[in-house]
Amino acid sequence: MNVETHAAIGRAISRHLHLVSRLEKRLVRGLEGPDRWRWREFPEFRAHHSIYPERIMDIVWSARRAYLAGDLGGALEALGVALHYVQDKCVVGARKGLRRIHNEVEREIASLEIPADAIREGFEKAECSPLFVRAVLYSIEPSANPAEALRSACLYSAMIAGAVYNPSQPPREVLEILERVKMEKAKKKRIAWILIALLAIGDLVLILTQPLISVILLLFSPTLLLLLVTLVERVNPRLYEQLAWYGLAQR
Ligand SMILES: [Zn+2]
Repeated sequence: MNVETHAAIGRAISRHLHLVSRLEKRLVRGLEGPDRWRWREFPEFRAHHSIYPERIMDIVWSARRAYLAGDLGGALEALGVALHYVQDKCVVGARKGLRRIHNEVEREIASLEIPADAIREGFEKAECSPLFVRAVLYSIEPSANPAEALRSACLYSAMIAGAVYNPSQPPREVLEILERVKMEKAKKKRIAWILIALLAIGDLVLILTQPLISVILLLFSPTLLLLLVTLVERVNPRLYEQLAWYGLAQR
């Protein structure tokens, strides 16, 4: 997709979010970024159309983190970069003999108007959740039809923008996850203390009967303790993600 189209979608999103001009500029700067960067400096971003969804997800995360930290400009710029890749993914790729079609589709897209209803629909569908964003990223299909490609680019961009640039408070499900994680941690902590106590008692008995084994056990104790702490702190990453989206856990 060419750089003017990226910027035009950005301005349509900005209008929907009622951004002031300083913030709109940051969003557009992000959207234009990948086409302006030199590939030598960012080799991993060279192929815009085949970038992995998880790579885009990482950029979305940096946008959401900036948003939670109150850095709206930084959030919008990172969001813009992520949306650039989303939009490029909607257009048929330029590789494997498709370059001619790709260029034609891009040229025709540039002459089309931004479908405002697709932007509106995207914001209506948006859910403030990382699971939602990931599902959107994995559902994008490239199209060789200019109008269709532009429409999906607008729809998906608005869906993701609405998920990231969203002031909602954590919903009930997320607060329930937080409670569950806290309870699980407390339970695991209790078990860990029991294991530590057993280990200490065992070692005391061994000091009296098998001093050599007790020394070996003592040598391994730090490793065992570290393992226990790690197990206590471990949380299912999918749950963790949902907490982190609202700043309730570090990611
Ligand atoms: Zn691009």
